[in-house]
Amino acid sequence: MYDIVIIGAGPAGLTASIYARRAGKSVLLLEKENFGGQITQSPKVENYPAFCEISGTELADKMLDQATNLGADVELDEVTGIQKTDKGFTVKGERADYDCKAVILSTGSKHRTLGLDNEQELVGNGISYCAVCDGAFYAGQTVAVIGGGNSALQDAVLLSERCKKVIIVQNLSFLTGEEVLQKKLKSRDNVTIIVDNIANKLIGTEALTALEIKNTITGEITTLTVDGVFVAIGQKPENEPFKSNVDVNNYGYIVADETCVTKDKGIFVAGDCRTKGIRQITTATADGATAALAACRYIDSL
Ligand SMILES: Cc1cc2nc3c(=O)[nH]c(=O)nc-3n(C[C@H](O)[C@H](O)[C@H](O)COP(=O)(O)OP(=O)(O)OC[C@H]3O[C@@H](n4cnc5c(N)ncnc54)[C@H](O)[C@@H]3O)c2cc1C
Repeated sequence: MYDIVIIGAGPAGLTASIYARRAGKSVLLLEKENFGGQITQSPKVENYPAFCEISGTELADKMLDQATNLGADVELDEVTGIQKTDKGFTVKGERADYDCKAVILSTGSKHRTLGLDNEQELVGNGISYCAVCDGAFYAGQTVAVIGGGNSALQDAVLLSERCKKVIIVQNLSFLTGEEVLQKKLKSRDNVTIIVDNIANKLIGTEALTALEIKNTITGEITTLTVDGVFVAIGQKPENEPFKSNVDVNNYGYIVADETCVTKDKGIFVAGDCRTKGIRQITTATADGATAALAACRYIDSL
């Protein structure tokens, strides 16, 4: 039996492994796809302290090395559920079941994508899902923001402070984000809002050069010359298998505050999969430390 099973090996889960091992607990870290999580999709990270510039894969590799060097066991397996037992929990994977005293959920979230040809190939070369992360790379350039909700409008506000021009493309005939953000954007000379249009085609092979949009009413096609496209059409937390164990909000995020404690004793949560304001590597690693130390205290109290 492990002391702690950590589900999801992004920055939150990797940091939790480091802290739990340093506290002397046995740790199993389970990952379904990609050790390192979302950050492995980022060619360049410039906002993680101590590294002026590092690729997401290199940063993830360093975290994984640190966790395994400290003695964390790692397995590639997709977790399908958690069962409470007399002695703690059984974490059910597709390949095996794992017994433990405490569980940390650090399953992260996935950005909704446009589903267009070339989209994945252009990530980091014109396509971004995070204005906070990548906005600075487009200073003085022209970008489009896809979406009209709060996240899209917040991204557009941030980008309009750095970019020459920001074009918001919304599929509905109105923006759905907060009035105050709409007012701010409408007052800015470098912001254009296009409604009733969807992103139709990404143009460019090695880097994005233009975005083709399509009017949902008339079918008219327009080509926008842009250096970047920021996709802000929502995120999807990966919490489906745990909905019977923990509380989730309307958007599927596990309800917890900075203590990283869930309503179920012995289950802790860290990183992008929980309710929080800012989803970044630094906030995920901070959660990983908090959740691990809370899990250690819980085990010591048993
Ligand atoms: C393209 C891109 C660029 C970014 N750039 C930056 C940046 O420059 N700076 C910055 O601070 N942030 C950046 N971010 C955001 C940052 O990557 C996330 O905030 C951070 O990775 C969240 O960490 P996490 O550990 O909570 O979740 P994640 O990184 O999402 O990791 C969760 C892991 O859990 C795994 N998992 C999910 N469900 C299961 C299951 N059932 N069983 C087993 N494993 C499971 C997933 O496969 C995943 O590997 C970027 C994100 C993207 C997509």
